[in-house]
Amino acid sequence: MELLVRGGLLVDGTGAPARPADLAVAGGRVTVLAPGSGADGAGDRSVPVLDAAGLVVAPGFIDVHTHSDALAAVGEPDPAGGAVPGDTAWAALEELRLAPLLQGVTTEISGNCGSSLFPCLPERLPELAEHLRVTFGIGPVGPAEDFAAFAAAQRPELRRNHLASLVGHGTLRAGVMGFADRPPRPEELDAMCGLLDRALAQGAAGFSTGLIYPPGTYADTDEIVALARVAARHGKPYVTHLRDEMSQVEKALEEALEIAVRSGAPLQVSHHKTAGRHAWGATLRTLPRLEQARADGLDVLCDVYPYTAGSTVLHAMLPPWASEGGIGALLERLRRPEVRERIRADIAGGVDGWENTVGNGGWDLIAVAAAPARRAAEGHRIAELAAADGVDPVDYVCDLLLDSQGEVTIISHSMREDDVRRVLASPLSMIGSDGVPKPGKPHPRWAGSFARVLGHYGRDEGLLPLEDAVHKMTGLPAARFRLAGRGVVRDGAVADLVVLDPDAVRDAATFERPLLPPRGVAAVVVAGQVAVRDGRPTDARAGEVVRVR
Ligand SMILES: [Zn+2]
Repeated sequence: MELLVRGGLLVDGTGAPARPADLAVAGGRVTVLAPGSGADGAGDRSVPVLDAAGLVVAPGFIDVHTHSDALAAVGEPDPAGGAVPGDTAWAALEELRLAPLLQGVTTEISGNCGSSLFPCLPERLPELAEHLRVTFGIGPVGPAEDFAAFAAAQRPELRRNHLASLVGHGTLRAGVMGFADRPPRPEELDAMCGLLDRALAQGAAGFSTGLIYPPGTYADTDEIVALARVAARHGKPYVTHLRDEMSQVEKALEEALEIAVRSGAPLQVSHHKTAGRHAWGATLRTLPRLEQARADGLDVLCDVYPYTAGSTVLHAMLPPWASEGGIGALLERLRRPEVRERIRADIAGGVDGWENTVGNGGWDLIAVAAAPARRAAEGHRIAELAAADGVDPVDYVCDLLLDSQGEVTIISHSMREDDVRRVLASPLSMIGSDGVPKPGKPHPRWAGSFARVLGHYGRDEGLLPLEDAVHKMTGLPAARFRLAGRGVVRDGAVADLVVLDPDAVRDAATFERPLLPPRGVAAVVVAGQVAVRDGRPTDARAGEVVRVR
């Protein structure tokens, strides 16, 4: 035996009622013991013990929706980028790497919203590198030709928890046909299907789209159906950031359902929300629509994060035509006054088929999260920043993008509390942080989502019983993404565990201090090794890349 977890109340991840149990860990796997039977370390005093008396023991949490692809794959230390062990930038990255673990997240699923670090045709690698720099924004990250190369680029000395990855459609499309605003030619679609098939065969967990982001936004429904059919052949889900989560959200949801029906792939609706004043309250219709689709036999589920604000890249606030040709072409365009005029007009009047975040809200609802070239702007609303400079907000935004070479992340205060609660309470939802881990003032969801669901929403607001909340973080996502041996504590399961105080667990991260660790998470075990003890990280680096078969 390598570890004994003694005296706790087991919430096993299935949704079943909590029950007292001890756990023995051997060979990185769990055996469930009767309570008290492991009292003396099975007679061996050399066995390390985690005392869980008065605490809850649960499967390690699975964050189904992250953008942490590059966090442990930062290339060679880059003096220019500052990502060298020992310096401030490195410390900031370490803090970002720790945030999920300190909440009890033992597995992250990256590659969401159409953005992954693979796959790519070899001749497109340089073009893709520029796009991924802007998307992930934490220094030199190299795109990989396939999932195997992506897995090999993860640095074991940085992996405290496990990582699975989806295949992002935006990366796949850019990796075959660049940033062209047109349908793929037949040979291009074949190449995309081939790269996707190889990545899924190598162990990628599913296929994701981000249909508000260039180049995903350039794809029509038929293109996505053709690719989702490849995922369906592997029995893996189609995971989508809908084409619109605001005024056209219901139409966008119908497109996703159509893709699932025509392709045969299970459907995962990412970070389900109905945002902007025209869509507030629409979860009263979208959730029953999902339930009806399930009743009709479609395997559809969704994920959600427990906040009324979203976060994304700043250039997603601009109409799609602005980004045609990629980030270099965008920045070139933004210098021209007539382009800025057209952007102003499109935001004011809307463009058919484009989710117009600013038109649905306003620049006063959008705050800068990360802007490496203007750190002083971080944490402030764009309307306020533009007014302070005495310029129009569109000009402020264009100049900010130019200063930062496109690398700007924002937080958008766009949702209503009743919608968030409705999705959290739905039996169809699981928890995904949608964390965008970049230095600056990132959205607190990266460091707070899981503790906030358990503490604020589950316990304090009475929205979910503890067993249901844990199920949404463990058993449900493990089944959805076919993470074998994870998500449920039973004999033979991988020993990924969290030990928490159900009365004390709460999130501490705020928009002002976004990486404050949660309270009440006592210990985290990753593959049988204690990775967090007494709320503090240990030296364990037991995380691995999960290959889904
Ligand atoms: Zn998204």
